[in-house]
Amino acid sequence: MARSQLTEALAAQLKAVVGPQGWSDDPQVLAPHLEDPRGTYRGTASLLLRPATTAEVAEVVRLCHVVGVAVVPQGGNTGLTGGGLPEAGEVLLSLGRMNRVRDLDVANFTLTVEAGCVLADVQATAEEAGLLFPLSLAAEGSCQIGGNLATNAGGTNVLRYGNAREQVLGLEVVLADGSVWDGLRRLRKDNTGYPLRELFLASEGTLGIITAAVLKLYPRPREMQVAFVAVSDPEAALRLLRRARELSGDAVVTFEYLNRTSLELVLATIPDTRDPFDEPHTHYVLLELASGRPGDDLRGLVELVLEEGFEAGEVIDAALAASEAQAADFWRIRESIPEAQKRTGAGIRHDVAVPVSRTHELLAQGGALAERLVPGVRLVFFGHLGDGNIHLNLNQPPGMAAEAFLALTEEVNHAVLDLVMGMDGSFSAEHGVGRLKRDEVARYKSPVEVDLMRRLKQALDPDGILNPGKVVPD
Ligand code: FAD
Ligand code: ZN
Repeated sequence: MARSQLTEALAAQLKAVVGPQGWSDDPQVLAPHLEDPRGTYRGTASLLLRPATTAEVAEVVRLCHVVGVAVVPQGGNTGLTGGGLPEAGEVLLSLGRMNRVRDLDVANFTLTVEAGCVLADVQATAEEAGLLFPLSLAAEGSCQIGGNLATNAGGTNVLRYGNAREQVLGLEVVLADGSVWDGLRRLRKDNTGYPLRELFLASEGTLGIITAAVLKLYPRPREMQVAFVAVSDPEAALRLLRRARELSGDAVVTFEYLNRTSLELVLATIPDTRDPFDEPHTHYVLLELASGRPGDDLRGLVELVLEEGFEAGEVIDAALAASEAQAADFWRIRESIPEAQKRTGAGIRHDVAVPVSRTHELLAQGGALAERLVPGVRLVFFGHLGDGNIHLNLNQPPGMAAEAFLALTEEVNHAVLDLVMGMDGSFSAEHGVGRLKRDEVARYKSPVEVDLMRRLKQALDPDGILNPGKVVPD
């Protein structure tokens, strides 16, 4: 069936489905739903739907399916690839009102929530039950669990707990024809055919609309230790990571990297931040360990790791947080880098991954390449070294006009991504594909893989009404 545009007749039907609380056509209400956090894209929509139940989502999709009108699901709209923004004539469907906790099963270590629950609220619900939901990212105060699962979000705890994908046991999904797949299983073992759940994780709303999920919970750590460490180079950082994992019985939760420029941008633009050291250093890691074992001398363990790392020449200087406030200060430095970068001029960004064992090569070769392509460029390199995901970000050289720098985006992107792909890497480690990286899917994935993606899309959404123009190349 040919796709068509939202008409007034369909709009009236959809409004009736969701009721007076469930829609808006007020441009001021719609505006924040049409912006993207980096200002790269703008969406267009005349109607925002905010259904409150799975049945309402299903009926909306069914009505749109009948006439071939596209539906774009949206969570907290913190996505960084333009994936949740609609185009004219499409229906924007926000999951924010679907924010109920459906079930908490402490003995099963599971929490069943609706897709519109804000990530920080999910974490808080787990905490109230004395448990932990480990997914954590800087946007957690506004992103929603449905968006996290639809993008398979990563964040800072992946080293220890895995991506969003690994936090799910079951899903409830509204399919392209409006039928509902109830896969809300709370099972840790269930080998009964194809792993359908996996299809919807990281599919960014192109195969189905996630309306609820069964999430895995974990015991809460009793003790955490956070250290800000100056390391001699990224290869030394990798040796330190191994040392820390081995000596601590794998208690490392976070192992984040930042270079000197990243720290300098934060110190220059973010109030109330200060350098943890008196001397400048070139490379830093933020190390966090956690233990749930009573009587574990975690602090002693971290001291041992740092001492051995110092003797082995890996560690140049280290600051072990003496209080929660100091730990928060260290974390603030790391989490403020994207904002600091934004405040410091035009940026070209790469969210890439390589095997952890090759991250030092990536940092060295990526830096050399960028400096060759754009002499004087500022390398804002930081990221999740412990899981291989580095944000190879570049800021305009001092003295170069923003437009001139941004005009180089495509050339720089291709050179950097060619390098990454040549290192068995990924051109999008944790932010997904959306609109931004759809062409890279065609460019960097094999024809066989692209064809498999197209066949899945065709099988699950034959009329192409779910989030068209995203993820799957034309
Ligand atoms: P949205 O932006 O609303 O949507 C994202 C995509 O998912 C869209 O394609 C949308 O159509 C689809 N979608 C949303 N909800 C559903 C649903 N219920 N069913 C089906 N499809 C749906 N990401 C990381 O991985 N790691 C980070 O460390 C990280 N840090 C960030 C820091 C900041 C300051 C910001 C602004 C963003 C960051 N992000 C990070 C990116 C972003 O927060 C994540 O991609 C997040 O998972 C998106 O969730 P959301 O609810 O905002 O989804
Ligand atoms: Zn990140």
